[in-house]
Amino acid sequence: MPTIREFTTYLETIAPLAYQESYDNAGLIVGDPAAYVTGVLVSLDTTEAVVDEATARGCNLIVAHHPIVFRGLKKLNGTNYVERTVIKAIKSDVAIYAIHTNLDNVAGGVSFKIAEKLGLQSVRMLSPKAQILSKLAVFVPADNLPAVLTAIWETGAGRIDPYDHCSFRVGGTGTFRPLNGANPVVGSVGQDETVQEQRLEVLLPTHLERAVVAAMTAAHEYEVPAYDLYPLNNANQTVGSGAVGKLPEPMSGQAWLSYLKEQMNLNVIRYTALPDRSVKRVAVCGGSGSFLLPDAIRAGADAFVTADFKYHEFFDAEDRLTICDIGHYESEVCTKELIGGFLADKFLNFAVILSETDTNPVRYFT
Ligand SMILES: [Zn+2]
Repeated sequence: MPTIREFTTYLETIAPLAYQESYDNAGLIVGDPAAYVTGVLVSLDTTEAVVDEATARGCNLIVAHHPIVFRGLKKLNGTNYVERTVIKAIKSDVAIYAIHTNLDNVAGGVSFKIAEKLGLQSVRMLSPKAQILSKLAVFVPADNLPAVLTAIWETGAGRIDPYDHCSFRVGGTGTFRPLNGANPVVGSVGQDETVQEQRLEVLLPTHLERAVVAAMTAAHEYEVPAYDLYPLNNANQTVGSGAVGKLPEPMSGQAWLSYLKEQMNLNVIRYTALPDRSVKRVAVCGGSGSFLLPDAIRAGADAFVTADFKYHEFFDAEDRLTICDIGHYESEVCTKELIGGFLADKFLNFAVILSETDTNPVRYFT
């Protein structure tokens, strides 16, 4: 039986915790990472009803999109639904793991799932994130290069999607003089040494800096490898917010609304005036995405599908695109399918169940 840690480690290769927003609380919220998993229930939210469902269906791990504990807990008296849910989970021996804005922020995450539901093509990140990439330059003797490269690649450096094993090298001359106390592989104490080396450069996610340097150092034959780490301003095209793509065929405004309603299984769409032109390019963001309106406009989107727009924010559409507010739950309920799919790919023949509890707190009177 796999442990909780095996599930969370795997999920964090897809959506590293380092990619969550600063206000978020993704990760293992309740439970012992070493505990064995009997079954996984995947849900959008964790409520008392979802914990009950997990127990009834033989699952002792809930993987939810929204973290049940968000702002911190100071008391556990059961005075609100958050405290009651946590108490029930602990008493029932059910663990809760949240994969939230870190899943929003990766290519193939929540917004990409929405794009897939809408059949969008040529999908890319709507707002790629900058300042999360670094460069490592390390000076390596030629015969040591394969070992260093392997170590670096296995730790996740040298990846520029859809490519991996990306690096650049150039030959040159390294100099050093071992001092007293040194135990050099090449040269001897007190003697100036000159060695032919390769300068090896690789790109890496900043949050992996420590791991990559540790792996490089372990594989490097020198007692003290020389290396440089640089922070980069390049945006990471596979990490960020929202997604944008093209419909297979342009649609009239009315046809687009009907299509959106059908594909996302909606009761209601709150939308701003339809443009005169047809709808072709569509931007999407799961959950509260109004902050991405300028990016959607800049990307030339004809429609922007998201949730939680406030009254005054709707005015900001001007006549540049149509905001389609489809509801927070409705935009993200497909997250269950997304997470369930990731888990099913890895944990074959293991019980991964999608929650059937409707956790939407919003009702519609029609
Ligand atoms: Zn959400």
